Amino acid sequence: MRTHARTHALLPSLLLLGALTFTAACAPGSNGAPGAASSDARPGATTSPTRGVDPSRIKGLQIVNDSSEHSSCPFATSYPEVPGAEAMTAAMRKDVEQRLATFRSGVCEGDQGSAGRELNISHRFLVASGDVLGVRLTTADQSGAGSGLSSRTYWYDGADRAHSPAVALVSDGARDAFLTALKDQLTGREGVDATALEGAFSAPDARATVLDDMAFTADGGLKVTVDRGDMGVPAAGEIVVTFSAKTVTPWLSAFGERAQRQTVAPGRSLDLGASSTPVPAAPTHTASGDDDTDCKRVKCLALTFDDGPAAPETATLLTHLARYEARATFFTVGQNVAAHRELVRAEARAGHEIGNHSWNHPDLTKLTPAQVASQLNRTSAAVKAATGKEPTLFRPPYGAINAQVKAATTLSPVLWDVDTEDWKYRDAAKVARAVIDKAQRNDVVLLHDIHPTSVAAVPEILRTLTARGYHFVTVSHLRATL
Ligand code: ZN
Repeated sequence: MRTHARTHALLPSLLLLGALTFTAACAPGSNGAPGAASSDARPGATTSPTRGVDPSRIKGLQIVNDSSEHSSCPFATSYPEVPGAEAMTAAMRKDVEQRLATFRSGVCEGDQGSAGRELNISHRFLVASGDVLGVRLTTADQSGAGSGLSSRTYWYDGADRAHSPAVALVSDGARDAFLTALKDQLTGREGVDATALEGAFSAPDARATVLDDMAFTADGGLKVTVDRGDMGVPAAGEIVVTFSAKTVTPWLSAFGERAQRQTVAPGRSLDLGASSTPVPAAPTHTASGDDDTDCKRVKCLALTFDDGPAAPETATLLTHLARYEARATFFTVGQNVAAHRELVRAEARAGHEIGNHSWNHPDLTKLTPAQVASQLNRTSAAVKAATGKEPTLFRPPYGAINAQVKAATTLSPVLWDVDTEDWKYRDAAKVARAVIDKAQRNDVVLLHDIHPTSVAAVPEILRTLTARGYHFVTVSHLRATL
């Protein structure tokens, strides 16, 4: 991933590199659609919720999410916060926040509407064991004029207590040999301009930015991914050069060797030397049997909470709901389910319904049917791994749905009657007021449990509306008893 500022600084070298991208035209999912943002989310990917790294085993992990639910300003960003790796978290936060601020000021705050633009930043763990943490952030910034897909890997060396750029996987002494071999590999590809290559790799700053995505393969090879960033030019793509373990091992730095080892044979746990790793406890409230509320006889409301689960917000919310014996529906995002299985289990145990809100929150109407199926199937598999049960409902991100999306899944779509716009206002009193003033009998209410302000609004909502005779049920219960 590239920040906006850096993109401009590197414009000349990246434009030259743009010539390289045509060689990757055969790569599936290289069309820049957000559904292709993570290599895991590509068509044909298996529905395994986690491959390689199981994020639910990372102690104290939090996923930092931000997203909108409006098609006029469609964005969804996420990056992980791992205790001990604060310097790496700060680097990811800086990149994500810059990118988001640029998108919001350019797309959301103008009066032009989004004009088809959408920003999606998703994360994937590469390594999380021993003293090595590796994460890839993939950014899809899709515009009417074209689409940009870019990725960046972030590395943390727990032994050195330092955030490492990808280029630091290679030792200083072997840099020339590595660059020569890389240029050889790229020169052999169709459309590659040798002079452009020379320019892109000559200055250290440009090199570190162009070579910002490097990771090991399961057998110890090194995969170098060169992308274009967001140039606003159609036919975005990437070029991948993979060196075998035999070739690359002599070039690795001491940290590179450890990162390679933890990729090939991961240790049982991650230890970055954090002084404390607070793990918020999941509430243990257990529903007493099925809900027998008859929505034909009493006033019902279905509160729905999207984009989570999030720690600690979802845990707090579960406690509020339990206090009023209220049931709700959680439209969960797969990449957060994978990180917080215990919270999804707690939701189910407390009698709430778990719905599917895609893997990383793309506009599904911009994806191919195979990509839509992959987004939803992967998430359902993650929910099943957590609770033993697959969802039957899905909510399309941004409420964006068409006949093609409906045909790509057997899940039943759920939109909403009351929009609190809680993601925009971040004001508990305003959110509570919106629900209390607008909600009518049998409405479905849209909220987001990734925001502390939305969670803080819930006691007031439950107190006031319970006093007015409302009963809080799941969406499936509401549908079944009407
Ligand atoms: Zn959402």
